[in-house]
Amino acid sequence: MIEVKNLKKQFDEVTVLESIDFTVEKGDVVCLIGPSGSGKTTLLRCLNLLETPNAGSITISDKTVSFDNRKGLSKKEVKELRSFSGMVFQGFHLFPHKTVMENIIEAPLIVKKQDKKKLTAEGERLLTKVGMLEHRDKYPDSLSGGQQQRAAIARALMMNPEVMLFDEPTSALDPQLVGEVLRVIEELAKEGQTMVIVTHEMNFARRIADKILFMDGGYILESGPPAEVLENPKEARTREFLQLLDE
Ligand code: ADP
Ligand code: MG
Repeated sequence: MIEVKNLKKQFDEVTVLESIDFTVEKGDVVCLIGPSGSGKTTLLRCLNLLETPNAGSITISDKTVSFDNRKGLSKKEVKELRSFSGMVFQGFHLFPHKTVMENIIEAPLIVKKQDKKKLTAEGERLLTKVGMLEHRDKYPDSLSGGQQQRAAIARALMMNPEVMLFDEPTSALDPQLVGEVLRVIEELAKEGQTMVIVTHEMNFARRIADKILFMDGGYILESGPPAEVLENPKEARTREFLQLLDE
């Protein structure tokens, strides 16, 4: 479903991703963990081509884009690869002057030029799924962070992505609001949605992940099922990282 090979990303002189390799099978939930500044956000943004990698390749749904010896990508490549993934950011990023329903139908309305009535019906289905139907006509600033994030999840699902990418979806939330967002993500996992989730919620990762990737120093240093990587890490760096979280 996703195959990332030798992916490299540098900003000016600084190389953030040295050489990243991993695969995600269809229906799998992969949790990406690692210290702050290790490049987790950059990696997710590369998967969605919000950043352009300097080398390597990304395959999603049998479509491969290679970044070796490339000056730029064609609009078609960007559009195609981007259409395979839905992104949920740390900070929700809803349009403040649009209601929840307007927010979630905006992209398909413009990008896919679909019928508004049909999109609204699909929007109602997804808002029900994330427990937000009663808030459909509210503006983001009248909602809690947990409600905004659940709306942002529905918005990403509206594009019917092959894979959902989450960048620390609960780290901007008050602790009492974390659970309602994690429950929505767990529900998606049960339905077989393929997902890559950057998270520091280790109990959540242990419950939900088929595979954990530990990222450090520009590489995926260790990967495997939670029972291995979280309970019995092979690498000293992974052990140190997990110990720091426990303190
Ligand atoms: P993480 O999400 O794991 O905390 P990031 O991917 O946000 O890590 O950042 C990794 C490194 O890349 C950091 O040192 C950060 O300063 C740097 N970085 C991220 N984005 C940019 C950018 N647009 N320009 C320059 N440096 C960046
Ligand atoms: Mg980050």
